Amino acid sequence: MDCPRCGTANPEAARFCHRCGDGLRGEGRTGRGGSFAIQSAENVTQFALISTIMPHTNRRVADTYRWALIVTAAAILGLVAFGLVPAAIVAGAVLVPITYLIYLYDVNLWEDAPVPLVVGLFVVTGILSVLVSLVFFRWAFLGEFAQFRGARVGGDGVSIPIDALLIFAVLLPIVAEVAKQIGPVFLAGRPQFDDMIDGLTFGIAAGTAYAAAETLVVFWPVITGDATIGSGLSLWTTVVLNLMLIKPLIYGTATGIAVAAYSGRGEGYDGFTPSYWANLAFAMGANVLYWLGNHLLSYAAFGELLGMLWGLGILAVLVIRARVLLHTALLEAALEDAAKEHPARGAGEMGWCPECEMPILSGALFCVACGESLRATTGPARRELRSAGGAS
Ligand SMILES: [Zn+2]
Ligand SMILES: [Zn+2]
Repeated sequence: MDCPRCGTANPEAARFCHRCGDGLRGEGRTGRGGSFAIQSAENVTQFALISTIMPHTNRRVADTYRWALIVTAAAILGLVAFGLVPAAIVAGAVLVPITYLIYLYDVNLWEDAPVPLVVGLFVVTGILSVLVSLVFFRWAFLGEFAQFRGARVGGDGVSIPIDALLIFAVLLPIVAEVAKQIGPVFLAGRPQFDDMIDGLTFGIAAGTAYAAAETLVVFWPVITGDATIGSGLSLWTTVVLNLMLIKPLIYGTATGIAVAAYSGRGEGYDGFTPSYWANLAFAMGANVLYWLGNHLLSYAAFGELLGMLWGLGILAVLVIRARVLLHTALLEAALEDAAKEHPARGAGEMGWCPECEMPILSGALFCVACGESLRATTGPARRELRSAGGAS
């Protein structure tokens, strides 16, 4: 059967076109929203975290990361329960970035990229974060930052400190986003990292590194024991949950979306296009909204909890935005590739789909059975397919 979208001949049993990834069973012409190109068992618009921030995993590997994160996060909350708040803050701050480093090492994404390059991205972004955070929280606006606490203690007739809000919920997130972009944009412009998934991955890595360093600077007095921890097991549980999971994931996905737009679809990087500026503004807007909500809600009853739920809502929007971006880019780049009419690459099979274990056709970019994009599959599977002459 010929694909109605790109004209490529496909086996009769195919559910998805192996060249352009379009659905062939009544769901064709971009109507495969029910099947995410990177994790074909999931919907595109589903709040699924792991398959979004770790695109080079299959379902089984993703489960391992999900459980490792849940178990470690629970152990860190256990530290709070035992009154070890400083230890919980330090461990919570580095949980997501370290998990992400392990993922990058594990999938061995860029075989020819030296490890120092990826570690360097974390270090450089971390140093930029420390500098920006010191300027805002210690050197320039210490007084304004204290206004937040002052107003909260004030009790009845709370007056919201507008200056502090503008500085810490508007100016800081914008400056911080610029600092988060520097490292990953530099890397995404290298010829060996021109894939949109590479851009997204670098952006997420930089965002999580920034979040960790910022958390360490802001909570330094608590970590070193100079500040009293005060009351409230439930308060600190919420604070640690927020800084451990919500904040780094918001920072990471927001930066990842903008850098993915810098990479663009297909070969080569798109650079500073209107799409990049729009997505950068989107990333900044998400961070501003997150911090405005957090600071304003902290004046309400159960403010920390409300702030965390607010963050969770913003994270859901960011995750779905990143998925739609990746999904559309993979399908459109494949269509362009098919339109270029590459010479027929010998018929036959060249391996097995890492998702559903059906045979992969020679020269395929997608699995005909489950629709999985072979660009986004696991490292070992990609190497096997490449040595057989298939998708890169
Ligand atoms: Zn097709
Ligand atoms: Zn498959």
